[in-house]
Amino acid sequence: MGGGESGVGAAVLAKVKGFDVFLSDKGKIAGKYAEELRKWDIPYEEGQHTESLILNADEVIKSPGIPSAAPMVEKIAGAGINIISEIEFAGRYDNAKKICITGSNGKTTTTSLIYYLLQNAGLNVGLGGNIGKSYALQVATENFDIYVLELSSFQLDNMYDFKADIAIITNITPDHLDRYGHNLENYVRAKFRITQNMSSDDFFIFCSDDEITISHLDKIVTKAKMLPFTQKGEVPEGAFVRDDKMIVRYNDSECDMFLQELALGGRHNVYNSMAAAIAGKVMNIDNKTIREALSSFQAVEHRLEKVLSVGDVLYINDSKATNVDAAWYALECQTRPVVWIVGGTDKGNDYGPLIPLAREKVKAIICMGLDNRKIHEAFSSVVPQMQDVTSAEDAVRLASRLASPGDVVLLSPCCASFDLFRNYEDRGRQFKEAVRNL
Ligand code: ADP
Repeated sequence: MGGGESGVGAAVLAKVKGFDVFLSDKGKIAGKYAEELRKWDIPYEEGQHTESLILNADEVIKSPGIPSAAPMVEKIAGAGINIISEIEFAGRYDNAKKICITGSNGKTTTTSLIYYLLQNAGLNVGLGGNIGKSYALQVATENFDIYVLELSSFQLDNMYDFKADIAIITNITPDHLDRYGHNLENYVRAKFRITQNMSSDDFFIFCSDDEITISHLDKIVTKAKMLPFTQKGEVPEGAFVRDDKMIVRYNDSECDMFLQELALGGRHNVYNSMAAAIAGKVMNIDNKTIREALSSFQAVEHRLEKVLSVGDVLYINDSKATNVDAAWYALECQTRPVVWIVGGTDKGNDYGPLIPLAREKVKAIICMGLDNRKIHEAFSSVVPQMQDVTSAEDAVRLASRLASPGDVVLLSPCCASFDLFRNYEDRGRQFKEAVRNL
């Protein structure tokens, strides 16, 4: 079910493994995916679900974008048919070592960092999951020794026997609760599925400064070796900060590095770099390669991406900051006065944690959304100037008037993008385009 990157990849792998495959999508299937299905001679339908065909299945692979409360999914479950995710399915046919990353924020950054590190170490490594090419398609058509997989909670929901060799939870903050019955516990449990089935040869890397993660550790039973990372105090094994250095300790060996040398700025990226460095140590990669990789990695697009300086005003695109926690870290690492572009589709945000940072650092707020009431309520008594706009172009033009030399214009919207843009990438690209046109 689902004819995007995940579903089509799963269909190809099923076909290669000799199954009788049928793909169904209630919406329209994009041209390149329809073409791929025809190339592999896989029957499919779009714009409808034919119940008789679907309920005839032995097993259903569901794409992560389809909620378990969708009527067809409920019917499949009601008929007693096994529903699994693409990752669960592909894992059955993959003997490669699997490094899996989940969390509320930092998944893509940490996944990309680890992939880059392993590539630099000369390993035969693939990248997949919630990022890039479908994991199942790669299992069908490639031959990697290691996979680095970004896993969303929606992918983890339908994983049962899959086992990671190294599992990482970057952090857990409330997000996507609409898909989890507005129950944080359900969301946290989905994230912790990443540790299921692990044995004593495996590793679980987590942030011991993260209260939600820590409060759930005693609820999980895992034989995996636990390797925490922290910026508060030291740990015997794992990673921590001492003075101006990050120190990684594993198996009587230590790797240290000046925080200044890390390619990615901000306190959140110290966490992401620590997680990646621990994974590197566990994979037996030498300290020099770890240091070189962490100091030369290029920021992923739309994550605190420096766009341009115009008239000594630096424009930063953090369009992927779709929740309060991500925006908190973006504001926290700013050292210059900020003109902050914020707003969009509110996901039930509590802006409270941002108020001290806004008071200290933000000189003007530009609300870029259709409904900005909550942002006005939260910040009007904290930030001297607030104005509304409804396009990236207007936001940038107004920002350039409000900013003085030495300031930063930060797009870190704290909200989803669907009121004014197709998605966060579209929002980030329109912002960058507008900056380049200044
Ligand atoms: P994800 O894939 O989990 O959405 P990304 O790496 O794409 O994470 O980053 C999403 C947003 O969160 C960006 O604004 C980024 O700057 C911020 N971010 C990245 N890592 C962290 C972290 N460890 N803690 C909090 N925020 C983070």
